[in-house]
Amino acid sequence: MGVPTAQVSRGRGSPAYSGGVSEEQRQQGRAGGGAPDASGGDTTGGGSGRNGWEIARLFGIPVHVNSSWLIASLVIALVFTPFVLDQVPDLGGLAYLVAFAFAVLLGLSVLVHELAHSVTALAYGYRVRRITLHLLGGVSEIEGDDRRPWPDLVIALVGPLASLALAAVGFGLLQVLPDGTVVRLVAWQITTANLIVGVFNLLPGLPLDGGRILRDLVWAMTGRETTGTVVAAWFGRVLAVGLAVMAVLPLLRGSLDIIWLAWGLMLAGFIWIQAGIALKVSKVRSRLPAVTTRDLTRRAIPVPADTPVSEALRRLEAAQAGGLVTTGRDQQPLGIVNEAAVRALPVERRPWVPVSSVSRLLAPDVRVPVESAGEKLVTLLQAHPAPEYLVVDADGSIYGVLAYDDVERAVSGLAGRPSAPRG
Ligand SMILES: [Zn+2]
Repeated sequence: MGVPTAQVSRGRGSPAYSGGVSEEQRQQGRAGGGAPDASGGDTTGGGSGRNGWEIARLFGIPVHVNSSWLIASLVIALVFTPFVLDQVPDLGGLAYLVAFAFAVLLGLSVLVHELAHSVTALAYGYRVRRITLHLLGGVSEIEGDDRRPWPDLVIALVGPLASLALAAVGFGLLQVLPDGTVVRLVAWQITTANLIVGVFNLLPGLPLDGGRILRDLVWAMTGRETTGTVVAAWFGRVLAVGLAVMAVLPLLRGSLDIIWLAWGLMLAGFIWIQAGIALKVSKVRSRLPAVTTRDLTRRAIPVPADTPVSEALRRLEAAQAGGLVTTGRDQQPLGIVNEAAVRALPVERRPWVPVSSVSRLLAPDVRVPVESAGEKLVTLLQAHPAPEYLVVDADGSIYGVLAYDDVERAVSGLAGRPSAPRG
């Protein structure tokens, strides 16, 4: 049974900024890298429901299984049961138990594969958010701020190697286990499954581990990760088409193997979709360096919080700025004046109302340096979710206000300029 596991690495800032791309990416993100494993892939992003239940914590990494894994295990057990009875007829009802044990061992094999990716990633100083086992395999969500091709290549490679090592151990066991026994039967199945998982995941197309290895090689040679991703993603699409053809081929010959057909088409669809996501994410990432705080910030001037609205507007006009930041007694920035609230305020009342009553509080303790840009900027904003941020100059003085939406729009390529002051 093919259980590919693919590994996706993502960077840290990127997740959110797959922005515009898809929900999955947001969670999986890759500024650094998450890693779905091809055994299944990673259909799971971070969404709470889809991550399933935490069943263990290994090396400090939360291990989750989701409902699709339970369903897959059940199907595997049901499919395997007749086979068990065929090989060891006197088992009777116990055959179900043996088949289920096989499904569980298969899950453990995938877990070993994912742990190989994750523990290696930890050793390189990356972070691992979680490992999730699901319908088609598993996914390790790996994040790193400073990713490089060679560590990424090693992280991708160790997963399939772990599967092949398990297959080798199984092969050794098969030499000593007596013929015709249940234990030997299960050992044979697990050995075969790990061999398939190891070899399949080495196929050179994203999102499979082999695709990541290809991407990292091209990345190392060209110095451009985007080039590596594009090449490896197109290889992935070719693989997906090949897999779909192989799944349908028996039909053309007049025989129907529903499991082969369904599994093959599901994997082909999964690989095709994930390869497409990898292409989109790389497009977004390639735009990141051009996203700068300076370009997106609306200039703002400070006014004491108790300044009357009319006077604040006069200063705004005089300074030809785009916004007003209210400050406290110690000159500390407090909030941003809400334009809509100002407009809603009758002109005759403006001299009597302090700007503080028409302002929103800024995210406290978050100062965005005006020189920040690209992935660092995105990472900073994601760590402190807020609609607007105070942008400061190198000397800490108020430069302006940055809207999260403007950054998201710039990253998704929809616009490059700050939106009009909003209220
Ligand atoms: Zn893998």
